[in-house]
Amino acid sequence: MTFNAYATKHARAALEPFQYEPEPLRPGDVEIVISHCGICHSDVHLADGDWGDVFPLVPGHEIVGTVVAGPTDRIGQRVGVGWQRSSCGSCDYCRTGDEVLCPGNQATCMGHFGGFADRIRVDGRFAIAIPEALPSDTAAPLLCGGVTVYTPLAAYAGPGSRVGVIGIGGLGHLALQLARAMGCEVTAFSRSADKEADARAFGAHHFHTGTPARGSLDLILNTAHAVPDMEAFLGGLRPRGVFSQLGAAPGPLQVPSMLLIGGSRTVTGSAIGSPAAIRSMLGLAATHAVQARIEAAPMHACNEALDRTRKNLARYRLVLAN
Ligand SMILES: [Zn+2]
Ligand SMILES: [Zn+2]
Repeated sequence: MTFNAYATKHARAALEPFQYEPEPLRPGDVEIVISHCGICHSDVHLADGDWGDVFPLVPGHEIVGTVVAGPTDRIGQRVGVGWQRSSCGSCDYCRTGDEVLCPGNQATCMGHFGGFADRIRVDGRFAIAIPEALPSDTAAPLLCGGVTVYTPLAAYAGPGSRVGVIGIGGLGHLALQLARAMGCEVTAFSRSADKEADARAFGAHHFHTGTPARGSLDLILNTAHAVPDMEAFLGGLRPRGVFSQLGAAPGPLQVPSMLLIGGSRTVTGSAIGSPAAIRSMLGLAATHAVQARIEAAPMHACNEALDRTRKNLARYRLVLAN
């Protein structure tokens, strides 16, 4: 059995056709015939060597496809796989449904070959059934981008919460939709005034090119890659408000201590989400017709597609199709 993929051998080198022999299926593993794979900014970081020597690299961790081998009750199931492909299954984190924090967690396309391919094998616990109502192409970006914004929303927000989303891109456009679906009052923050109509279409009640009014928000999700004005955004939180950092900002966050202390505010980060979070996020998406807005490209055009993501040109997520 040979899997056909696209791999890059060095940082910033082109992806080229690449064949590999998959690891043997262990009990509980599934083999998936991939129909779609979204492109996340993490794929760009990996391909550009920002996160070390990860080569040869087959990127791709927003995978949708159909199970063709594994436990008999999984055969034929349409599933999605995100950043995480496995975990130890026995540590404190795994036993409490927090698999993302497992010290033995395995990444789908770091140390293993990812979704720019015709097939993949992963631990079946991390291949999550896709609800029927969700089309495969627009569901793919939910597997990483969607759950990344859903996890802090589920932790810190609920109906009526005032939620701000900084950055209207791959993550931000999903955050607006999911926050709206949860019944939050949603404010979008973008430096691009031309994104207002899209932001409102995604569910934003309010749109600002600047910073929030003081004490106006319960939760801020920062999906932008730039270092934010923490004085303004922390000050924009109500007492006990939470600032959740999701984008990989290039520099340190400058947190004014008095804004933390005065309102008992929290600055925190969040990484992807556990299988349970992915399942509940997909359920919410199915109920409220949350869909990534995508540009489709054939798998063999992965170089051009990766480059559009690198240059922030994708509106709002590139999805490769086999
Ligand atoms: Zn990702
Ligand atoms: Zn574990």
